[in-house]
Amino acid sequence: MKTYQVNTEGYYGEFGGAYIPEILHRCVEELRQAYLQVLDSADFQQEFNTLLRDYVGRPSPLYLAQRLSGKYGCRIYLKREDLNHTGAHKINNAIGQVLLARRMGKRRIIAETGAGQHGVATATVCALMGMECIVYMGKTDVERQHVNVERMKMLGAEVRPVTSGNMTLKDATNEAIRDWCCHPEDTYYVIGSTVGPHPYPDMVARLQSVISKEIRQQLLQHEGRDYPDYLMACVGGGSNAAGTIYHYLDDERVHIVLAEAGGKGTDSGLSAATIQLGRLGIIHGAKTLVMQDEDGQILEPYSISAGLDYPGIGPMHANLAAKKRATVLAINDDEAIRAAYELTRLEGIIPALESAHALGALEKMHFRPQDVVVLTVSGRGDKDIETYLANAPQ
Ligand SMILES: *Cc1c(COP(=O)(O)O)cnc(C)c1O
Repeated sequence: MKTYQVNTEGYYGEFGGAYIPEILHRCVEELRQAYLQVLDSADFQQEFNTLLRDYVGRPSPLYLAQRLSGKYGCRIYLKREDLNHTGAHKINNAIGQVLLARRMGKRRIIAETGAGQHGVATATVCALMGMECIVYMGKTDVERQHVNVERMKMLGAEVRPVTSGNMTLKDATNEAIRDWCCHPEDTYYVIGSTVGPHPYPDMVARLQSVISKEIRQQLLQHEGRDYPDYLMACVGGGSNAAGTIYHYLDDERVHIVLAEAGGKGTDSGLSAATIQLGRLGIIHGAKTLVMQDEDGQILEPYSISAGLDYPGIGPMHANLAAKKRATVLAINDDEAIRAAYELTRLEGIIPALESAHALGALEKMHFRPQDVVVLTVSGRGDKDIETYLANAPQ
């Protein structure tokens, strides 16, 4: 049967796999052998689902946005990941991976972070579970994301500023990998999106798939059918989108719309629209689309949204785009800002800047009145207020 799920070698079509240095082979292989067994076990499921319910506050509501629906002439439901503890979907993945680490006998958690959201989610779960937590963060990002750094420290994590390269996410990732190489026995590396070597993309997608599991049940209650006509989500590395579409990947009745960050425009040189601009390459241990120059040097991505400026894209999403299973739209900074203000004024919900890119895709679509659209609001916009004020539409 044709499927868009991962195969046993860790590939989605031609994308994915594990392209890692020899020295990491044992760590990744140990993880590959453990993850399905643990994630599928009754004991893990019980603990994971209890924490999702009582700590994160799941299920997150599926909210019929009446005034937004009126504007776009269809039925738009918002999947409210912004209402989760810590304000976004990332906590789902962090809880799952730290529970897995514990079951693998690892006591030391490391992570890398760019904007700081994944670092905060990981530090939160480590506080909850009494685990040591070290977060690598580019020095430039440490300065730009001061509040998140203070949150991580308050949660008991050690934040290690990285001073190599551009001192941003890519350099922090290299440093985290170096740490993992040096401490393979006791250390677990938590990756925050559907990126990295197999099994990370599949593992993160499975941990986030609770989003589409809930959508199925909630739509059945609201609409009397368990599938929508459209699913829409923003993509940085791809984890909130993967969770949103996971249980519908092979259901071709459902159109998938992915919104990537166009930045100042895809031909401006200031963009993070990896699917549109990237070429096949290897980044963080996976073969996928990568923004790179003629010589294969990775280009620094740009987006007004710190959570979307990743120069690669999850292999699942690269494959969905290559096979035309998904429609991919690049939403520019100004379009995202306008969409955020629109949602705020129509529904009283201030979305994260990342999520605003998914909302910005609405005006590019042509819906019929009977269409049921589910759009994931991946996070809340409190962290982005200063950017919103500085860029308010006229
Ligand atoms: C990190 C983040 C994203 C982008 O990451 P994905 O893995 O693509 O989901 C999107 N929205 C919010 C609120 C985020 O914090």
